[in-house]
Amino acid sequence: MPIGEFRRHGYAVIDQLADYFEGIEDYPVLSQVEPNWLKMNLPQSAPESGEDFGAILHDVDKLIMPAVTHWNHPNFHGLFATSTSSVGVFGEMFAAAFDMKAMLWRTSPASTELEDVVLDWLRQMMDLPEHFEGIIYDTASVSTMHAIAAARERANLKIRDLGMSGRDDVPLVRVYASEHVHSSIDKCVITLGLGLRSLRKIECNERFEMIAERLADAIDEDIAAGYLPICVIPTIGTTSTSSVDPVDAIADICEKYGIWLHVDAAYAGSTAIVPEMRHYFTGREENPVATAPGSDMKGWERADSIVVNPHKWLFTPFDLSVLYCKDLNELKVAFSLVAEYLKTSDEKTVKNGMDYGVQLGRRFRALKLWFVIRYFGREGLIARLREHCRLAGLFASWVEESDNSELLAPVPFALVCFRMAPAGIADLNALNEKIMNDINASGDAYLSHTKLNGKYTLRLSVGSIRVEERHLKKVWDILNERLKSEII
Ligand code: PLP
Repeated sequence: MPIGEFRRHGYAVIDQLADYFEGIEDYPVLSQVEPNWLKMNLPQSAPESGEDFGAILHDVDKLIMPAVTHWNHPNFHGLFATSTSSVGVFGEMFAAAFDMKAMLWRTSPASTELEDVVLDWLRQMMDLPEHFEGIIYDTASVSTMHAIAAARERANLKIRDLGMSGRDDVPLVRVYASEHVHSSIDKCVITLGLGLRSLRKIECNERFEMIAERLADAIDEDIAAGYLPICVIPTIGTTSTSSVDPVDAIADICEKYGIWLHVDAAYAGSTAIVPEMRHYFTGREENPVATAPGSDMKGWERADSIVVNPHKWLFTPFDLSVLYCKDLNELKVAFSLVAEYLKTSDEKTVKNGMDYGVQLGRRFRALKLWFVIRYFGREGLIARLREHCRLAGLFASWVEESDNSELLAPVPFALVCFRMAPAGIADLNALNEKIMNDINASGDAYLSHTKLNGKYTLRLSVGSIRVEERHLKKVWDILNERLKSEII
């Protein structure tokens, strides 16, 4: 593309994106197209000769846009509401333009060094001890898979060299997490060849938090049976309810048995930058910085690894997940492999990203996080997360005050679990499922659900950078209107 054309189309793209952000509320939150609509409207094969970019841009509006579900819409409250910031989009544009593959330091000094700097900024903002060093992957699923692989390597089974198949000297390896753990952990044990039977799920209390005593019992029982516990994964901010597992008590157990402690803070981790939220992570009210392993550490400071997703709740475009490790070298032990064509004279003095995981080339993801942190500043980020938590608390108070609804879980962060529960309705599960499906189909808002103690539970997540109190009021009004039309 000649540079003049690039400039002209580039301005048009920015105009189109600016219109998109400006008019975001005019779109239905969930795409209204039927399955296969887009496929049916696209040619069956690629164009023989090149097309004008203007025509391509036109088709983004005509064909792609109707099939977009608008995660940026302020009434996207399903799953975890995550949105990009405009400044994060600029980060992606530069990264795409540079197109660096950060495998070796020399193939991408900027990516390698900016990643170190920006992850250390984030570490300081979250008040994590200095010994934590981070590495960026695409998703929490992949961050956690790397953590479990490193834990397995530490267990000295020589899996890296010998594998697991065909060996009768490898006991059943166990990974522990609560019954509310994210399904990505199940997928991690599948991917790593441990198998689903290696994942033991521990019972939760009535607040949906892992019961530490049950974990200790399970480990004792497994050791007695000849199994090998390698990793425990408590969650701070579980997916169904955002509950917080008792990380400090779990860390005591891991320490006693020498088990790797991996904390899944993929959703809620960003809120560790908010001083009044930090107790969910450290377990203490006032929070002196713990500086060295073994000093005065509590809660997640005692972990071997922690995953935090800025792409979930720090306004950074998908994807960017951070794995912090107490000793990043353990990842290197599990994964480093330097082929002849990748050998460099500086490998002893520099960090080569390829050494820390399965990928060779790595995207320049740190750039967008750098843009986001610099543009908003620590204060700006804190203010936004604080506001999301306030809004979720406000919505929860409406739920609690109404005779027609009930709260079904505590609200530590910005996720409200509730259901509409008017008197005299026999099947509340069917009622809530119907209300949710109707709202989602209307395009006015998007809610998702979970099941808690057999109850069909609506989940309202507050996380969009564009969300305001009026958006929550809108959902509350719609819910009550739908309820009225169902019970009349
Ligand atoms: N862990 C928790 C607690 C989550 O809520 C999620 C996704 O919502 C994940 C892990 C997986 O995240 P990712 O999509 O980055 O793999």
